[in-house]
Amino acid sequence: MGAGVKSQVKVVVIGGGVVGCSVLYHLTKLGWSDVMLIERSELTSGSTWHAAGGFHTLNGDTNMAALQGYTIRLYRELEELTGQSCGLHHVGGITLADTPERLDMLKAERAKHRYMGLETDLLSPNEIKDMAELVNVEGVLGGLYDPLDGHLDPSGTTQAYARAARMGGAEIVTHCRVLETNARDDGGWDVVTEKGTVVAEHLVNAAGLWAREVGAMAGVYLPLMPMAHQYLVTEDIPEIYERDAEFPHVMDPGGESYLRQEARGLCIGFYEQKCEPWSVDGTPWDFGHELLNDSFEKIEDSVAFAYRRFPVLERAGVKRVIHGPFTFAPDGNPLVGPVPGVRNYWTACAVMAGFSQGGGVGLSLAQWMIEGETERDPRAMDIARFGKWTTPAYTLPKVIENYQRRFSVSYPNEELPAARPFRRTPMYDVWDEMNAVFGETYGLEVPNYFSLEGDTRFETPSFRRSNAWEATRSEVHGVRTSVGINEVHNFSKFLVKGDGARAWLDHIMAGRIPKPGRLSLTPMLSPKGRLMGDFTVSCLEEGTFYLTASYASQDFHQRWFEQHSVPGVSIRNVSDLVTGFQIAGPQARALLQSVTSTDVSSEAFRFLDVKSMGVGLAECRVQRVSYTGDLGYEIYCDLTSQRQVFDALWAAGEPLGLRPFGMRAIMSLRLDRFFGSWQREFSPDYTAAETGLDRFIQFDKPVDFIGRRIAQQEKIAPPPRELCAFEVEALDCDVVGYEPIWQDQRVVGFCTSGGYSHWLDKSIAFGFLPRNGEEGAVDFQIELLGESRRALRLKTPPFDPEGFRMRQ
Ligand SMILES: Cc1cc2nc3c(=O)[nH]c(=O)nc-3n(C[C@H](O)[C@H](O)[C@H](O)COP(=O)(O)OP(=O)(O)OC[C@H]3O[C@@H](n4cnc5c(N)ncnc54)[C@H](O)[C@@H]3O)c2cc1C
Repeated sequence: MGAGVKSQVKVVVIGGGVVGCSVLYHLTKLGWSDVMLIERSELTSGSTWHAAGGFHTLNGDTNMAALQGYTIRLYRELEELTGQSCGLHHVGGITLADTPERLDMLKAERAKHRYMGLETDLLSPNEIKDMAELVNVEGVLGGLYDPLDGHLDPSGTTQAYARAARMGGAEIVTHCRVLETNARDDGGWDVVTEKGTVVAEHLVNAAGLWAREVGAMAGVYLPLMPMAHQYLVTEDIPEIYERDAEFPHVMDPGGESYLRQEARGLCIGFYEQKCEPWSVDGTPWDFGHELLNDSFEKIEDSVAFAYRRFPVLERAGVKRVIHGPFTFAPDGNPLVGPVPGVRNYWTACAVMAGFSQGGGVGLSLAQWMIEGETERDPRAMDIARFGKWTTPAYTLPKVIENYQRRFSVSYPNEELPAARPFRRTPMYDVWDEMNAVFGETYGLEVPNYFSLEGDTRFETPSFRRSNAWEATRSEVHGVRTSVGINEVHNFSKFLVKGDGARAWLDHIMAGRIPKPGRLSLTPMLSPKGRLMGDFTVSCLEEGTFYLTASYASQDFHQRWFEQHSVPGVSIRNVSDLVTGFQIAGPQARALLQSVTSTDVSSEAFRFLDVKSMGVGLAECRVQRVSYTGDLGYEIYCDLTSQRQVFDALWAAGEPLGLRPFGMRAIMSLRLDRFFGSWQREFSPDYTAAETGLDRFIQFDKPVDFIGRRIAQQEKIAPPPRELCAFEVEALDCDVVGYEPIWQDQRVVGFCTSGGYSHWLDKSIAFGFLPRNGEEGAVDFQIELLGESRRALRLKTPPFDPEGFRMRQ
């Protein structure tokens, strides 16, 4: 590198947009000062310079919403720290609802905000008119007001981050393109630039519009795509500049637009249906401070709609058109964190709302790098949520879908159609012929339910109970009264082998590692005691273990395993190689016995046993375990045997009343026994003692397992909140997650998940309350779509409280 520039640093951040600068600042804030940012041109030379600079907290994912809240609150702090103005306009914003569904969505958001401490409010059309008189509220049913919404100066804000980072010791090198990133044997990186090579321990790809190209330098595919986006700035409008106060932001999802005041006029941008991916095959290196040509044609319909919603626009001339690209991941959330399988390589890209999310992304990444884990569950933005199966051909239609749906109502039961069906197991056609209605998880098609004769093969997206109700109910009753079959493709599977496998598992898992022939359930903890996974571990023979957990979290878990790997233990992700079925219900044993010559009587094959046995023509690993609360078995085989195993089970099962069941039925059945679910009740947001998973921790094992210290502390002094179950007096909608729990007019907790138990005929919810033990109150209210519903705390599962059925 040139004179005065370091040639060796702890971290190199590539990219000086708002995100790279935020990462750099947060690294220094959290204590790493030996950090360098390299920018090929001036700071803000990607998407950042032409952003509209709007910010807001609304996000379907609660943790992302919290990080957006953090970002917005940070700006004043940055200004005070650096003296650099961010050009803040905290004007507040209203999101309009012009359909009952969108109003439901806003009510659900408002409910979440209550326990998050965000002061949003639902407004009537008249209140909207009072606040933003230029809105034509005809057809508007209401709106959500957020006092935190506003806008800023994109360049000033980026400079403020940069200045703060420099004050913390960071170095910023501009006009210096990174040409290569080469992995070193010592785990670090040679960052080859136009001005020489820098050796870095860690590399952060924050290259925004060029993140794909920078990723490719290290052989990393990042699933993102730039989209061309356009906003217009009007000439002066008297109704605006004559106002006493600045006009608030107005998001009009029905018209796919956002609007705010810009100087003495207005600025309006569109997420139009006729959208345009930009530079599909790669961002040119010579693209920089130019804008794209105006494209009125693609926004014609949206503009016409906007004229009706904001009639003043029709009289205002257009002063400036800004048309530029910025990047999106397939689900619209950022791609952040350590890239699985690549040492010391981190990303902070696909941040489509840099001024709402940039601060939170920077903070999270810095925590991850410095402290080894993030303060909040990073799932929504974790790069590991996309596996190696993602390709450019998958990313493109998904990004288009996401862009077009930017302002669509998102329903909790919704399945998005683009790039599907993609990944399928050998059973797909069989389920399809049985009228499966598929959902998608981690790119894989999974039956959600099997539609009843005469029903449509499509689940209507809804905040309320959907048309899947009767079908799910009938599957639940099928399991409880006879026997049901479902695939195990929704589990991840890892094969852990080696002489040191038991010792390694004992260290990485907090629970008991089973003896040969047995299986156990165990939480996996982080050093801070947070839940990193809830695993089933089975041991067929000493030195060979199978782990199962959430299919969608397989890369998240694999990455954790690799970070903690030791010589002599091999860990293989066999999720897509090993498949099979689970059978559940009172007739499950009879079914299994009829397809195997192995004795599976209750004495010979006990609850939590694992055995190798022939099933049909195939040799399978069979585990006796249950997530439905009923007698159940998991039968594992390889992909090539799966159809034969199914044929054998199906032929033997028909006289017993065997029928398929899907994810909707599983999620209903688990409620009866208060079984929590990964990413709902169990996630890195919670500890084992908070969720009750501490009952699976083996405190007497003579091993310093990860998270032991905190788990032990929590055993002595239990954490202040605990996971509880409720019966809700619900009408036509059930708890989904993050609804507030009220008592005496105060929000005292929040829900993690819930649903309808078709067997008990009750609406059940789970959620956190302040710990008050067995003596505590039982009468609460849960807010469902803006309405208060009585919720009685249940201390024991109403179905088979002793767990007799699954152990019989
Ligand atoms: C028209 C428009 C309106 C928008 N409005 C808003 C809004 O209102 N609110 C909001 O929050 N967001 C808005 N955005 C999105 C916002 O611009 C982005 O979220 C944000 O800029 C992303 O920042 P970034 O740092 O990730 O990427 P970028 O800004 O693209 O920065 C990447 C940087 O990396 C540098 N770089 C790349 N490769 C190399 C290399 N090899 N070596 C060295 N340096 C390299 C580039 O030069 C660039 O400076 C808008 C975007 C557009 C296009």
